[in-house]
Amino acid sequence: MDNHLEMTENTSSKPKDSVISVKNLYKIYKLGEERVRALNGVSFEIGRGEFCAIVGTSGSGKSTLLNMLAGLEKPTKGEIVLEGTHIENKNENQLVAFRRQHIGFIFQAYDLLPSLTALENVALPLSFQGIRRKERNMRANKMLDMVGLEKYKKHKPTQMSGGQQQRVGMARALVVRPDIIFADEPTGNLDSVTSEEMMHLMQNVVRKKGQTLVMVTHDDHLASYADRIIRIQDGKILSNTLVQREETEKAKKPDDALQDPDEEKTVAPTT
Ligand code: ADP
Ligand code: MG
Repeated sequence: MDNHLEMTENTSSKPKDSVISVKNLYKIYKLGEERVRALNGVSFEIGRGEFCAIVGTSGSGKSTLLNMLAGLEKPTKGEIVLEGTHIENKNENQLVAFRRQHIGFIFQAYDLLPSLTALENVALPLSFQGIRRKERNMRANKMLDMVGLEKYKKHKPTQMSGGQQQRVGMARALVVRPDIIFADEPTGNLDSVTSEEMMHLMQNVVRKKGQTLVMVTHDDHLASYADRIIRIQDGKILSNTLVQREETEKAKKPDDALQDPDEEKTVAPTT
């Protein structure tokens, strides 16, 4: 952790405007006779516009937690409230509708369709929302500009580097303008320089759009980009830290890594 950052360390650092609220969450897997307490009584809140990192070693329960938060798996016990809505008791159809309306995912395996260009991949989720082709292409174009891929719109996944593919994956997650974005080890397959770039992009995205980003990682350094750091071990929260960095960040790095997709500017850095 960078030591110039001021930290407010406590286990109940409550946000003013909470977007995600988790109470007493348990997930117990049964493996034959054995029970694995993947989540063992977890409670926390994440505020609107926060970039939150959930950090822990392998097997600590990070992916289980993220999958519960996103409504992909049902908890054994406990409450999950997203945007004021309880999701723990929703059925699959309700969850699908809820996710479509509020949630975006950035995966480690970019999961791009190989026969489609970058632009087509990014535009695809908009067609599920019934948005017309012209508008789809316009929004996908802007989003690719925003992640610095203006020269790669017509490339197919195999014609791009891992880092570029991950940016396409990110653009595809963001193009639907979700309130909450979940990312599970999103830079797991990327080199450290590209990973850092991704972190800057993610930081800027949530700042500019007021979106909430929840990223799971085992990497302390990557976690240090977040506003809130929640440490998890053996299915329990070790600490919940709000990082106060407004002064130092502004002085350190100008906010130029990212173009606002709703503005008509197109120059953004490319790698
Ligand atoms: P992390 O993402 O932090 O590496 P996970 O959330 O994947 O950890 O796993 C937490 C614990 O739960 C581990 O002990 C793992 O073996 C166990 N676990 C995860 N998924 C399942 C499952 N579907 N069935 C049984 N055990 C599981
Ligand atoms: Mg995992």
